[in-house]
Amino acid sequence: MNFRTTRAEIDVDALSANANWVRQQIGTGKLLGIVKADGYGHGVGAVCDVLAPCVDAFGVGFTDEAVALRDAHTSSDKPVLILEGCQSIAELEVAAENNFWVVIHSLYQLELLEQAKLARPLCVWLKIDTGMHRLGLELAAVESFLVRLQKCNNVAGTVLMSHLANADSGMPLNHYQRQQFEQIKRQHSGFQFSLHNSAALLNPQLRGEIGENDWVRAGLLLYGVNPSAVTEVQSELKPAMSLKAPIIAIHELKKGDSVGYGSSWIAEKPSRIATVAIGYADGYPRQCGNGTPTAVCNKIAPVVGRVSMDMITIDITDMPEACVGDDVELWGARIDVREVANCADTISWHLLTGTSVRVPRVYRA
Ligand SMILES: *Cc1c(COP(=O)(O)O)cnc(C)c1O
Repeated sequence: MNFRTTRAEIDVDALSANANWVRQQIGTGKLLGIVKADGYGHGVGAVCDVLAPCVDAFGVGFTDEAVALRDAHTSSDKPVLILEGCQSIAELEVAAENNFWVVIHSLYQLELLEQAKLARPLCVWLKIDTGMHRLGLELAAVESFLVRLQKCNNVAGTVLMSHLANADSGMPLNHYQRQQFEQIKRQHSGFQFSLHNSAALLNPQLRGEIGENDWVRAGLLLYGVNPSAVTEVQSELKPAMSLKAPIIAIHELKKGDSVGYGSSWIAEKPSRIATVAIGYADGYPRQCGNGTPTAVCNKIAPVVGRVSMDMITIDITDMPEACVGDDVELWGARIDVREVANCADTISWHLLTGTSVRVPRVYRA
């Protein structure tokens, strides 16, 4: 039971509609639903319950997240890919026991896999660096890794993957990475492949052919958010999370009065200011300055003054109907999370995953 009504409402129908929309986009391709970071902040158990019928497998960051997924979502045993792979033999044993799939991105991980004595063989996603230089083996090493994987008793099958550094933009590196990956595909027919994240799926420069041997690794799109800050495309997407908080106080300010820490906003005219029960400890970014939009009573009210730990202040001068107890939407169905992210000089992924544990998730159909 919570007295404070600040909450993240999760629209479960939106989740499945978004997943089905992604499915349409990828045709015969396979869908890896990315649910790392507690399902992008939406709650991994509930997200997986909804998405299980719509995806071919799930993807998480690391083994502990995969175990948490299994504990929270018990109604299906869809495979779970560990995107960073394992760092010890004990971890590989847990992966084998639970039927997890593992990424191998380095010689260190390949050697662990060769040394381990696993209860059953694992499906391995071999991660190749085509230009991002974060994880993955260099192209020249692919052949020798594949030979060793083929010999290894702990391997049940191999998918070749890479990750794009600039999928949401038109950088020349896109062209290079795509070319490299196309070459890998040509040289290794008979394997399955995975290059696309959400942004790559929507980027004509990167999309290419997606066939039955291609896995699309979609995260943000499943949660109904456009990965591109610039291109508008998919009106069918519906934001799954709406972050809401109540007005807990209203103050009438005179011209010249200031609001909040540092007096960073000063009323230029008599103003009506609402105090809302959400702050940076809830994951609402402290960087959101004056003018960041919120929605109250179907209108837009701008943030005024600094974001504090537990509260923000918004200007409701033009909304005489607004009163204490009314809900304010910080992002979601009415306020595009991209716009708030932009105001905070960050990205939508950061805001969704940053919604803190203090905020209850409430699931609605
Ligand atoms: C997180 C992640 C994704 C999903 O990215 P979105 O932009 O949210 O679709 C895909 N691939 C890898 C390797 C990731 O780490």
